[in-house]
Amino acid sequence: MLSDPAAAPSMDSRHPIPWSCAGGPDPDYSRADRREHLAALTDPGLAARARAVDEHCELDYERMIRVLDLVWDCPDDGAVNVTGYRCSGCGISRALARRARPQPPPPGSADRDSST
Ligand SMILES: [Zn+2]
Repeated sequence: MLSDPAAAPSMDSRHPIPWSCAGGPDPDYSRADRREHLAALTDPGLAARARAVDEHCELDYERMIRVLDLVWDCPDDGAVNVTGYRCSGCGISRALARRARPQPPPPGSADRDSST
């Protein structure tokens, strides 16, 4: 298991793994979600959006698309999938992949634990 997402093979900006939506729609997400994520992946304002989420975000495409949660990395086969689509390698949904192998939240993601 990768304890540091930055160490994932797909995070190597010298040899990035292309993202894919070939796994087909993930029923946990709406069509609008998928459309938004796909559009954001090629948005010229990607860097500004990433910096809005994490002001220290490196301006590296592989890093920015993860900070913005636009893609997810399959823990089993390393496939890089657009958020809203199942894995192009094994067909698992993101939720099932997380349940199988919990991953730390991406850097800069908001802490969703609402402890009082
Ligand atoms: Zn997979």
